[in-house]
Amino acid sequence: MGRQPLARRYGVLGWPVGHSRSPAMMRAAGLERYQRLPVAPAVFDDTVRALGGAGFHGANVTIPHKASALALATSASDAAREIGAANTLTFGDDGEIIADNTDAPGLLAALGEPAPASALVLGAGGSARAVVWALSRAGADVAVWNRTPQRAQDIGARVVRNPVPAEVLVNCTSVGLDNSSSPFQDLPLSADVLREYATVVDLVYRTGGTVLIAEAGRRGIATVDGLEILVRQGALSFSLWTGLAAPLHSMRSAARDPPT
Ligand code: NAP
Repeated sequence: MGRQPLARRYGVLGWPVGHSRSPAMMRAAGLERYQRLPVAPAVFDDTVRALGGAGFHGANVTIPHKASALALATSASDAAREIGAANTLTFGDDGEIIADNTDAPGLLAALGEPAPASALVLGAGGSARAVVWALSRAGADVAVWNRTPQRAQDIGARVVRNPVPAEVLVNCTSVGLDNSSSPFQDLPLSADVLREYATVVDLVYRTGGTVLIAEAGRRGIATVDGLEILVRQGALSFSLWTGLAAPLHSMRSAARDPPT
């Protein structure tokens, strides 16, 4: 585990990364030297290879670097390799860079036990790949809808042209992130169709919450929002780096109400 992992340097690699709630959440967990690491794609590899020597023990990785993070790692977990993306890097003392993916187990942790028997995933981008991998590995029958169906062909689940009923609905598109898109216009859903799902998960999060989560909640459907997904993947990264159980309550509070 190395020396005093809580006292070492950590960060979140992204471009841009100014909006990230990870620093507030990880500092609340006890990683006081966790910082934003805005890194442009052109200098990503050289910058990341220098982090271990600069005293960093770990980094989270967000858009657009998750595939590049896996590609430069010296070793990778099965999850990162099979999903094709890493959201967590650990730096060894000898220049080793270990890639992991905590997005996938983070989703399952947020859903709780038992894992769902069936799911409809909306989207075919990076987050959808992690979600499909996690749910399929947990034994769920997974269907995928994507605006551009060809992009979903190699995702490892059956592609559907229209929504199908399932135990869980997971929005892995960026629809709902800002006012330029709306779930009931850009996705093949009406608010009442949400009743066909026992649980609605929205990876998207924004100040004030998303319309999808609000409408599902209004109908009495169980919900998991994007901030809970963020907290769960962060908690697993924290434990990988420190060997400690993550303080979920503090992390959740900081992610939901970050200090200004
Ligand atoms: P991505 O790789 O860029 O994929 C974007 C997906 O959204 C694609 O499937 C795209 O469909 C779809 N899409 C975009 N605009 C659309 C529209 N107007 N109508 C219908 N579909 C549309 O992004 P990602 O990395 O998977 O992330 C997706 C979202 O999840 C982002 O908002 C991100 O912030 C969020 N996220 C949250 C967490 C968390 O911890 N809570 C973690 C990861 C991601 P096409 O293929 O047709 O373009």
